Amino acid sequence: MTKNLLTLPAAILVGVCLLWSSCSRAPSSSIISLSGATMGTVYHVKVVSPSSSKKRVAKLRDTLLEGFESVNSSMSHYRADSRISVFNRLGAGVTQTISGGFLDVMKMSFDLYRSTGGAFDITVGPLVRLWGFTNADSRVRDAPPTPDAIAKVLNNVGMNKLVLGPRGELSKKAEGVELDLSAIAKGYAVDETAQRLRASGYDNFMVEIGGEVCTSGKNAGGEDWIIGIAEPSHGAMLREKIIKRLILGNACLATSGNYENRIEADGNFYSHILDPKTGQPVSNGITSVSVIAPSCARADGAATAITVMGPKEGYLWALRQPDLEALIIARSPEGDLTEFTTPGLTRFLPSTERGDSPKIGL
Ligand code: ADP
Ligand code: MG
Repeated sequence: MTKNLLTLPAAILVGVCLLWSSCSRAPSSSIISLSGATMGTVYHVKVVSPSSSKKRVAKLRDTLLEGFESVNSSMSHYRADSRISVFNRLGAGVTQTISGGFLDVMKMSFDLYRSTGGAFDITVGPLVRLWGFTNADSRVRDAPPTPDAIAKVLNNVGMNKLVLGPRGELSKKAEGVELDLSAIAKGYAVDETAQRLRASGYDNFMVEIGGEVCTSGKNAGGEDWIIGIAEPSHGAMLREKIIKRLILGNACLATSGNYENRIEADGNFYSHILDPKTGQPVSNGITSVSVIAPSCARADGAATAITVMGPKEGYLWALRQPDLEALIIARSPEGDLTEFTTPGLTRFLPSTERGDSPKIGL
């Protein structure tokens, strides 16, 4: 059995690549593969379909693009006309009523904020800007922001400065508070796409946006979709260095990593994931966190939150969550990688890779 490895741009995709078997297909089904750019990254969708007629493929592409558009038009702060951008421009105490996916994501974000003691915080936008992560052209700067500049910006950071009413009435308590859903919206877009595919009658598919992925049912050969997690280091995906293979079934996987999206200042590297309390990029030994959950938005947000909490606190938090499993990879000062996996993750491993069974060579 040969395997194909789908490698995705390392700078965008953090630590995840996808494997699937290229076994013989069931004669009655074909696979439609679609990919392209969205949300500042790349998507790959594979759908098992009774036919791959031009008409069907075009309709499927429209379904995906409509889903991306609905997420971007509400949750992309890069778009000036999006609902989130409208909110970001509002003054203190002015209410905007939100609904649908935007409201669901806000509720999920509040849950994560509260349960992580503020490690997950979608008001980090002004900090992200201060550190320079929004400027793709200047990833090297002379020095990190000064403590004074950070302290000033922190005045506008904190989800306790937001108010969300029972019917989606959203307002800010202080001028200058902004929303940045980058840590959770990609996962939500995967959920939205999966939901639209199901509504169109497809049950067997794989949806991936920038490394966040959901699978459903089986592949065209009637086999499980297999997702590979690449070693968290530069170029690992290109070297096909897979450290874990997972069978998600009808679940989702999201990964946050500290080693791809970063800036350099003073000769040091800084992660794009920030500690909302200190205003500093996280530097706690974690190099990547992968989370499995029924919802990709939840997995996406949780992976970012665990990265902020660090290997120990993050692991203990993951253990307390009934709906998710986590794989945390930390690097010691000497450069050795250590894996921490929640016990329930075992059930997502191929049977040959559980317990003492001999491992399949990759
Ligand atoms: P990626 O986008 O690489 O998959 P994440 O899902 O972890 O990574 O999202 C990181 C983005 O989330 C950052 O670029 C920033 O915009 C935002 N962010 C940074 N720190 C936090 C935090 N503590 N809580 C919520 N969002 C954050
Ligand atoms: Mg995330």
